[in-house]
Amino acid sequence: MSEGLIGGHRAPPGAEPEIAVGLVSDVDQVKLRLLSSFMDADGARWPAGDYLARAADEAVALSGPRTQTAPAFTLRPEDARAGRFCVEATIGIDFHWQQQEQQTFSGGLRLLGDAGGVALVNDVALEDYLRSVICSEMSAASPPALLRAHAVISRSWLLAQLRGVIAPGAPQPAAGERLRWYDREAHDRFDVCADDHCQRYQGLTRIASPEVARAVAETHGLTLIRDGEVCDARFSKCCGGLTEDFRVAWQDHEVPYLTSFFDGQGDGPVAPPTDDGGFRSFIERPPAAYCNCEDPALLSTILPSYDQSTADFFRWRVRLDADQATALLRDKGDIDLGRLIAMEPVERGRSGRLVRLRLRGERGELVVGKELEIRRLLSPSHLYSSAFLIETEGPAARPDAFLLRGAGWGHGVGLCQIGAAVMADQGQEYQAILDHYYPGAALERWYT
Ligand SMILES: [Zn+2]
Ligand SMILES: [Zn+2]
Repeated sequence: MSEGLIGGHRAPPGAEPEIAVGLVSDVDQVKLRLLSSFMDADGARWPAGDYLARAADEAVALSGPRTQTAPAFTLRPEDARAGRFCVEATIGIDFHWQQQEQQTFSGGLRLLGDAGGVALVNDVALEDYLRSVICSEMSAASPPALLRAHAVISRSWLLAQLRGVIAPGAPQPAAGERLRWYDREAHDRFDVCADDHCQRYQGLTRIASPEVARAVAETHGLTLIRDGEVCDARFSKCCGGLTEDFRVAWQDHEVPYLTSFFDGQGDGPVAPPTDDGGFRSFIERPPAAYCNCEDPALLSTILPSYDQSTADFFRWRVRLDADQATALLRDKGDIDLGRLIAMEPVERGRSGRLVRLRLRGERGELVVGKELEIRRLLSPSHLYSSAFLIETEGPAARPDAFLLRGAGWGHGVGLCQIGAAVMADQGQEYQAILDHYYPGAALERWYT
């Protein structure tokens, strides 16, 4: 998507971009309510009122106060600031808002007809979109500097996705290896969808938190920039003490602002815990990192579903029965090596996260990676991270169980949310937080 927005409303340099959000796809019909009048691409006026858009032979039949059938409609509000519309998806399987209140949106709307049915796209100003998604994601109880830092990184991340800042690449496994990583799959008719696949977006309806809305407004257009380009500002829950290099989780690229460093003041560990000895002491004698925090009051402000069972993510333990591990590999990865008898680290990143792990079974062996694939394969859901030490119970040659002792939650690349919350709680400003997590990146207003 290096050519910019698919929506066709590419902003001139310095102007706020629009983002094309797919609200509904492949449905037989959609109910719409225009709360103000809209104009189509031919200059015809569509008055406020209730409309029904139906799929009609790879076209859209739009009926209501005005009626017309066409392959596509592009409607812009007559008054750009005040234009609003509501959507109700009547056919469709898992639209998350179906049981909820009707959703109201600002900006333009497009109706696209094709063999799959009707798609409805909202062309919305980037700041309006951000305000909506950050209000759904962030707790208003978070420290204000954390909310501001998050507004900047969400904006940067989004712009980086639209601009295709990080070049694509495919895994290059050696013989006997299976390497995978997971990135958001691109959409072809819009930039992002409105569901959890991209970021949950519910239009104006979710803008419920004045604190969060203020954090977005006060950082309007502010973006992390390095070498003249927007930074792809990744983030995860808890780095575990050291942040990780981009290539441990995704493509084999060196991304200068997404490299490993100690998440604290001063120098941290002498050497990166990339070997088992170094990693053991990193697990057993954790450094005084920002995210080495057990303050339940602070954690509950940033983790909405925080409870005691999710408290131990800076250092954690998981016991995996050998039979259970064998079954997980078969069910989740279609990997049949016979009963699992050993797990051997092949390569660790500089935060200690496993990039490649050798699985040895009674009938064969396989090296798997990268970090998210390892986490996915060895848990009914996901392990907290791939930064773990492997110990065994029972006979060394044929263990009964594997004991994983790990650090951190998530891929650990970029900003560490727990560490950033602690920095904010200690009174650091959002600029200092961003400076810590994205070394060498400058904070600039990408548009006004
Ligand atoms: Zn999506
Ligand atoms: Zn951290």
